[in-house]
Amino acid sequence: MARYTGPICRLCRRSGEKLFLKGARCFTPKCAEDKRPKPPGMAAGRRRKLSERGTHLREKQKARYTYGMMERQFKHSFLIAESMPGVTTDNLLVILERRLDNIIYRLGFADSRSQARQLVQHGHIILNDRKTNIPSVLVKAGDKISWREGSKKTEYYKTALAGIEAKITPGWLSLDKANMTAQVLSLPAPTDIEALFDVKAIVEYYSR
Ligand code: SF4
Repeated sequence: MARYTGPICRLCRRSGEKLFLKGARCFTPKCAEDKRPKPPGMAAGRRRKLSERGTHLREKQKARYTYGMMERQFKHSFLIAESMPGVTTDNLLVILERRLDNIIYRLGFADSRSQARQLVQHGHIILNDRKTNIPSVLVKAGDKISWREGSKKTEYYKTALAGIEAKITPGWLSLDKANMTAQVLSLPAPTDIEALFDVKAIVEYYSR
């Protein structure tokens, strides 16, 4: 699956706000959006006032950057959300949140979603007793998440285990911190999800 490989902080600077894509670094003075809160590019100076369409596009891009998705994949998620019963905005939020890479991030196994995606792609994660390397898999209520036995010997795992106590787990996930195993108790409610983007603007964007 294709993915963005350019500078991550550029995505925040393009959006005009911090999207917290780099884990711990985002909370340090090294944050590029804090240091240079201007759009990227040689000629960039001040931001142009956006049209309504431009605002909708920016919100869609923020969501895409947040979850590390390419346009085609993101639009596919929107189309699924739209075809489901219920409110499209709520459906979309829940679909994005159900991605396996996001779950790994929410559990505190990784500092960022991109790091979580790598963990999955490199085969460190077991979903329901089977190794999976697909970060976009959507988890269901009752699904179980654990680490591959071989991965437990890595320095990464030991560091993650040492830091897990301080992590806060959302109420819809249950985490056994001693064994680094987890279960999806229920699907998240839209109100459980703190989004840094306006999901209504995304629906407006695709509805035109
Ligand atoms: Fe964005 Fe984090 Fe980079 Fe700051 S450090 S610009 S919040 S990704």
